[in-house]
Amino acid sequence: MTTLERTLVVLKPDAVARGLVGRLVQRFEDAGLKIVGVKMAQLDDEMTRKHYFDLEERFGTAIYEANARAIQRGPVIAMVLEGVEAVANVRRLVGGTYPNEAPPGTIRGDFAHHSKAYAMSQDKGVANLVHASGNVDEAKYEVELWFGADEQFDYHTLAETFTF
Ligand code: ADP
Repeated sequence: MTTLERTLVVLKPDAVARGLVGRLVQRFEDAGLKIVGVKMAQLDDEMTRKHYFDLEERFGTAIYEANARAIQRGPVIAMVLEGVEAVANVRRLVGGTYPNEAPPGTIRGDFAHHSKAYAMSQDKGVANLVHASGNVDEAKYEVELWFGADEQFDYHTLAETFTF
């Protein structure tokens, strides 16, 4: 049976610094996803390591460090979003990792354009505005890492009366 899921979205420092928070949150709300937790945070080395726990293994130390610098460059806005198949749906709205390949209509396709090659030539993380949990297991780990039970909320929206 398909059930409601919760997933983590982080608006990274490039999104906050560019003043895109409202417009990006709007996209998730427009799709009917419900914000059930939200906070602003400045990541330290320990939290960065926990959040990007497998990034060094996947991409190597240089890319891990470039991304650690990028995500610590300024404050982020983190959210827990709830909805039907929320993990996959949020990824669909966010678009693929590399903005130059993300289709128009997605957040990364509409608000960014950098490529993997450019980021690597500059020794920087790919500026792609948003982190979103990649799968259901990752979402469970990330939601628990970022938000305590007392920071997540259960409430009903008016829209639910008509859409559920
Ligand atoms: P996603 O954020 O789409 O789930 P990944 O988990 O694969 O992507 O990678 C995490 C983040 O690392 C990406 O969002 C991107 O900012 C950065 N990144 C991925 N590949 C590279 C790369 N080759 N060089 C620099 N940064 C990268």
